[in-house]
Amino acid sequence: MKLHCEVEVVSRQLPALGLRNRGKGARAVLSLGQQALSSGPGGPRRACLLVSTLKDRRGTRYKLTENIEQLFTKFVDEGKATVRLKEPPVDICLSKANSSSLKGFLSAVKLAHRGCDVEAPLSLLTPVKTSEFEKFKTKMVITSKKDYPLSKNFPYSLEHLQTSYCGLVQVDMRMLCLKNLRKLDLSHNHIKKLPTTIGDLIHLQELNLSDNHLKSFSVALCHSALQKSLRCLDLSKNKIKALPVQFCQLRELTDIKLDDNELIRLPFKIGQLRNLRFLSAARNKLPFLPSEFKNLSLEYLDLFGNAFEQPEVLPIIMLQMPLTLLESSARTVLNNRIPYGSRIIPFHLCQDLDTAKTCVCGRFCLESFIQGTTNMNLHSVAHTVVLVDNMGSTEVPIISYFCSLECYYETLYICKFLSILLF
Ligand SMILES: [Zn+2]
Repeated sequence: MKLHCEVEVVSRQLPALGLRNRGKGARAVLSLGQQALSSGPGGPRRACLLVSTLKDRRGTRYKLTENIEQLFTKFVDEGKATVRLKEPPVDICLSKANSSSLKGFLSAVKLAHRGCDVEAPLSLLTPVKTSEFEKFKTKMVITSKKDYPLSKNFPYSLEHLQTSYCGLVQVDMRMLCLKNLRKLDLSHNHIKKLPTTIGDLIHLQELNLSDNHLKSFSVALCHSALQKSLRCLDLSKNKIKALPVQFCQLRELTDIKLDDNELIRLPFKIGQLRNLRFLSAARNKLPFLPSEFKNLSLEYLDLFGNAFEQPEVLPIIMLQMPLTLLESSARTVLNNRIPYGSRIIPFHLCQDLDTAKTCVCGRFCLESFIQGTTNMNLHSVAHTVVLVDNMGSTEVPIISYFCSLECYYETLYICKFLSILLF
C-alpha cells in the first residue's frame, strides 16, 4: 500500500537539545509492507513503514508493530495527519495527501500496529522511481503551444499551473479537476468566457487571465468558493466594460489588476473590499469613481489614462416627497440592518436592497436621493498613487449621494465653510 503526500519527520528530542525543525515537508512516497525477521519462509514478520523522498529514494524504514504512541487525525479531511512513534521518538507529519487515500492508509497503519498482517511483503518496498515523483509534482509552467499536453493529463497534485501563449480559446476542463490548485495562470491566450466551475477550485488564491478576450466576469463566479480563497486577480488586457456589483463579495481580494480594459465604471460597492491593497485600472474609460471608493485603504493605486470628467456643477435631484412606501421600508430595513434574503422577499427586491446607495451621513437610500460629483484626492485612500494624467494631478471626480436636502445642504455648507477658510 502506498501514499503520496508531503512528509516531515520531526524528532521529539530536538527541542530538548535546543534545536528546531525545518518546518517544511518534502514530497514523499510512503509504503506499508512486511519485513521478515529471520530468513526462510514462515518465520516471524513485522510491519514496516518506508518513507522515500526524491533525495532519499531507498527511503527510511520505521517499525510499526506495537510501535505507535499516538495517531493525530483531527485534520485528516484536509489531507493532514501525524504518526507518533515510540521508537525512534519521532513524529511523522503527513500533509497535502488526498484525504480519502490518507484515511485508507491510516487504517492500514493502525492494523499494522496491532500486529495484523499487512498484505504486501517488504520485498515490494523497492526504491521509488524518479518518474513516480514526477507524477506528483506541484508546479508546471507551459509557455508554448507545442509543450501543451494533449494526450497526457495534468498531474493531479499540481498547485501551480501556468499555460501561457498556448492559443487556448477556452479553459481546459482537465484543469478544473486539479483540486489542489492555488495559482492558475492562463495569461496570453484567446479565452472569451470563463466556466463557472473555476469557482469549484476551492484553494485557488491567484488567478491570472491577463491578455485574453474576456468581456465579462460572471455573477456566478462572484458567488462561488472563490469568495473565501481568491487573493490576487489579474484581468488586465481584456475587453471588460463593467464588473458586476457582486464582484465586491470576493472579500479576500488583496490585489486586482484591471488595466487596459474598456471599463466605464468600477463596481459601486468597491468599498466592501476591505483587504484590498493593490488596485490598478489604468487605461480604461472611467468618467468618475463610485462614492464607496473613499472607504478603501490601499497601498498602491494606479488610475492613469482614464477619461475622468470635470465634476458636474449641478446635482441630479431625484428626491421624492413624501417617500414612497418602497423607499421608506427599504430605508428601514437597511438602516436597522434587518436581515433579508430571497426566501423572505422577492428576488428583485433583494437586488434593489443590495444596490442601495449610501448617503454621506451613512444612512441608505434607494430611489430617492440627490446625486452630486465632487473631487477627491487619491492620496486620501492610497499610500502610493500613480498620477492620473500627464498634468500631474491626483484629483478625480467621485459620485456622492445625499438622502435628504438636509444632508445635501450640510455638505454644501461645510464645503463653503472650508473654501472660506482656505481662501
Ligand atoms: Zn443622509
